[in-house]
Amino acid sequence: MSTEYRVPSTKTAPRVGHDLEGLRTAVAEIFEEALLLEARERTALLMQGARGRESGLAVLPCNRTLSPGYYDWAHYLLWLDGERRIAIPLELAAHEMEGLRIVEQERNRFLREHPACPQCGAINQKFAFNCQSCGAEFKPRGAGGV
Ligand SMILES: [Zn+2]
Repeated sequence: MSTEYRVPSTKTAPRVGHDLEGLRTAVAEIFEEALLLEARERTALLMQGARGRESGLAVLPCNRTLSPGYYDWAHYLLWLDGERRIAIPLELAAHEMEGLRIVEQERNRFLREHPACPQCGAINQKFAFNCQSCGAEFKPRGAGGV
């Protein structure tokens, strides 16, 4: 349940909250990691900030480049963004607003690079030939194909 979300400790959030480039990296890495999740969990993570199986990400092979505080902060912002999308009125601090702007930019960039399946909306690997979720065949991009 989303109300059970654990807000990052006040010790780490303000500190990493001011490193916007660090946050951008953490969000981008979380989205890349999402490609290793089941299609439905991946879409939920991207669009609602849901973490999927709580322990799932911990066992995934990933190449995180920053300290854990950044990913806690990024996951918190993804969750916050999801709450906003379902129109829960929130009072946001300035560093949360800045963070949400970066989440939005990174999500848009990720979705541009990983187009959703036209059949079912699942987000697939960059150069997938078939949808991982419904199996729909993707048309090659451009006749020349690069
Ligand atoms: Zn599909």
